[in-house]
Amino acid sequence: MPSSLSEALTNSSVSLDFLKQDDWITSGKMGSREAVLVFRTNILNPKTRKSLSEKSSAQTLSDPKDNEEEAPAPCEKTEPEEKTSTSSATCSNEALKEAAQRKIYFLRNAQNCDKSDKSKFLSPFKKLMHQYSSSDTSISSEGEEPARCSSESKSRVLKTNQNAINISLAESSSKESGYDSMKPVKTNANTDTSEEDQDQEATSEEDDEIGVNMPAFKLKITYKFHQTETKLLRKLFTVHGLTETQGENNFNLLWTGVHMKLDILRNLAPYQRVNHFPRSYELTRKDRLYKNIERMQHLRGMKHFDIVPQSYVLPLESRDLMVAHNKHRGPWIVKPAASSRGRGIFIVNSPDQIPQDEQVLVSKYIVDPLCIDGHKCDLRVYVLVTSFDPLIIYLYEEGIVRLATVRYDRHADNLWNPCMHLCNYSINKYHSDYIRSSDAQVEDVGHKWTLSALLRHLKYQGCDTHQLMLNIEDLIIKAVLACAQTIISACRMFVPNGNNCFELYGFDILIDNSLKPWLLEINLSPSMGVDSPLDTKVKSCLMADLLTCVGIPAYSPEMRSHYDQKWSRFRSSSCQRQATVPPPSSSQKSTKKSKKKGAAVHTNLLTGEEQRILRSARHQYSRRGGFVRIFPTDDTMQRYGNFLDSANGIPISTPTVQSQTFQTPILQHNYNQMLHFNLYCQDGRLSKDDNTEENRIEQYERALETDSEIPFVKKPAMEKCEEEGRRLRKVMLKKITAGSELTQFQARQTFSLYLESVMRRLTEDPKDSHEKIILKFLNKFGGSVKPPVLFRNMQNLKVASKARSAMVAKLLGDFLENYKRDTESYVDSFDHFGMIPSSAYNQFLMHAQESDLEAVLTLHTNVTGIMPFLYNRCGLSVPPTPPIPSGLHGFLRALPSMVSASGTARELSKYDGYFKSYEKDKIFL
Ligand code: ADP
Repeated sequence: MPSSLSEALTNSSVSLDFLKQDDWITSGKMGSREAVLVFRTNILNPKTRKSLSEKSSAQTLSDPKDNEEEAPAPCEKTEPEEKTSTSSATCSNEALKEAAQRKIYFLRNAQNCDKSDKSKFLSPFKKLMHQYSSSDTSISSEGEEPARCSSESKSRVLKTNQNAINISLAESSSKESGYDSMKPVKTNANTDTSEEDQDQEATSEEDDEIGVNMPAFKLKITYKFHQTETKLLRKLFTVHGLTETQGENNFNLLWTGVHMKLDILRNLAPYQRVNHFPRSYELTRKDRLYKNIERMQHLRGMKHFDIVPQSYVLPLESRDLMVAHNKHRGPWIVKPAASSRGRGIFIVNSPDQIPQDEQVLVSKYIVDPLCIDGHKCDLRVYVLVTSFDPLIIYLYEEGIVRLATVRYDRHADNLWNPCMHLCNYSINKYHSDYIRSSDAQVEDVGHKWTLSALLRHLKYQGCDTHQLMLNIEDLIIKAVLACAQTIISACRMFVPNGNNCFELYGFDILIDNSLKPWLLEINLSPSMGVDSPLDTKVKSCLMADLLTCVGIPAYSPEMRSHYDQKWSRFRSSSCQRQATVPPPSSSQKSTKKSKKKGAAVHTNLLTGEEQRILRSARHQYSRRGGFVRIFPTDDTMQRYGNFLDSANGIPISTPTVQSQTFQTPILQHNYNQMLHFNLYCQDGRLSKDDNTEENRIEQYERALETDSEIPFVKKPAMEKCEEEGRRLRKVMLKKITAGSELTQFQARQTFSLYLESVMRRLTEDPKDSHEKIILKFLNKFGGSVKPPVLFRNMQNLKVASKARSAMVAKLLGDFLENYKRDTESYVDSFDHFGMIPSSAYNQFLMHAQESDLEAVLTLHTNVTGIMPFLYNRCGLSVPPTPPIPSGLHGFLRALPSMVSASGTARELSKYDGYFKSYEKDKIFL
């Protein structure tokens, strides 16, 4: 074991035989303490890889002797981060600069990818479902079809519909709930607005090949996923040479879909990174966020924090809601407190239409949203916080604008229509008129635009986009300030090193027609699912820039073990971060004094911790890629100084005397003041700063640059043979009649595929009666996907429409998503006696049509008396199901009664009275 860091560094020489290390390491030379990995999207493109490998194979390797502890980063010498343009990385590292200037966001071309290779990396269950879904073009996650245009969609939104693609409902729903999206997450137990990833391709052998030549591979840098699966991220890791670890603590980067366990946080070594801060649910839980902002409204004045629609948490605040309603009449939008992706949301005219026994957040409905060609839209912007003390917030230069599929109409008759009032992709994609842009360079087509395209569109119309973006920045900073105090105190208690945590938040913002932005919610794990070239471009770029900006230390195993040793010694004495701060020095006193006097806080008067913070902030800024730092900025202190404690710089959100509000740390410091001063006020650097308002706004308005067209990966579709399906169906029916049974896994697979076919029909060939059956089934089934009260009774949705079909399909999609996730745990590793052999059954599933699946399910259920959806571990003890009528859709018709027989039905009819009052209460908004 190396005894000192310099020894560890000497031992850490890593030979790079393929790629030039400077392309992939920045902020310091390999082996230096500051060195971090570089992530670049262009390596996702096989063509770029080829040229890179050709170019790099001729290049010489760096001399490992150059590796010195604390070797200054090239960018640190000249402090260039304050001098160069915002669009390019400022480090002298040419590769990084190039990456920032010429972003290439290609995903691997499917033609070059052997499907069998691909499926090699999937779990056994995924492998099977990968086969089925690719065997059916309609549920292929990335298949494309020519656009279909309806009379409802002839506006500019759809202007280039010949270019647009419209992946069929079933295909997109397979992504939403699909087998492709299968992941080890069981349920999202917490109540944050966490989004789940939906699609993307798996990594391939080719990715592994390129990965092994990367510095990260040689350095044995590892990542770990916990309760999440982000395929885009997995791909980025693989091609950059990071390897997955299953170990509890031996990761360099932990990417989790849920909040961190405090135990893990407490034991983080300085080189480890995790993607969440402790207690960030203060921001990401709808009810907590609103309460935090409400507190700031009381403390600092409504005019400063009028950033969220007035909201009430029911049933606790029912009376307050009634009072507010009597003052200013509805409508109100009702959201389950523990939900995301538009699940369970509905709009009412009056609070008495809201059931009293569910915990919901009720918000004032903004009736005059900004519309694009008549379609309501909202924004998803990506906010990166790399530190809460000091507060460092970045806003990604590009965001996504989501449009509702149906044109907006304020009439109360339309309040039920989620495809008009909600902009969630996860709802609108089920509408048959939903259009995706098929070209990454065309950003203002279809129902998903980029933020920059919206800004250009609004500017063209004469809107003040400059002020709009400043207001959005302001809203983001204020939301973070409102929640920061609790997070900072948690960081102090649980996070041992200043750089351990970072977090990417998905902010959902609605803009009203006066261009005022309203914060709707903040997502804990914004979806990185991609459904179009546009998505691919924005999200792969975002993730690569995020990883580079955050900085994964490029430490060798020797360096890590050195730190681990040091750390275990340190942990035995204390695990509090502040303990790492050196004793108070004259600099701290001088910091306080200088603040009062307005005098300079010179860098060499800073404590060790302050120097680390400053150095880290500068390096990070130099690696920011497309991230725009919105806090601190030049005018931060002027604008937000009031909201910070004057002594320690911590955002104050409790109504007590300043300086006494925060559990005062042992040592007094003001990192915000120190950072702002050193970045913006010292040595006249202010004038050279490139992070000015003008530069920032310009960056938001500029489209992400790509240097060639983006081929969107189309999953190779396997032909289904109808005849073969019929033949195999006969074989299966014969086997079942002869006494063979389906395993639980096979039965659940069959049921899922059958429901997928039904879901597809719901929008392609809507049948009123089938929508009713499905709603009845879901109503009875209850659970997390039960329809919102408004939709539980089909009689109230008299007008047959595509939107109604989409709504039912969405509900079914949500049900399927959970069902399939559960199914994963039923995979059989070998064939059981008396059961149908899996290879034969898989063949059948590969070619089966809806009618084949229905025939097998019907016979099997009649023979065994067990309902397929109850093919779970306790399913055998339930009462037998009544016989299923034969004939077309017999199984579907029997579905709701099967749930009743199972005894799992939940009594939901108590809400039925509600519909009468809703019917009567039609008003104009
Ligand atoms: P979820 O987490 O389920 O996506 P959101 O809060 O983002 O919930 O709301 C979903 C959609 O509902 C948004 O896309 C937006 O269009 C609409 N919406 C939410 N709140 C309001 C509101 N107060 N006024 C108008 N529309 C809203």
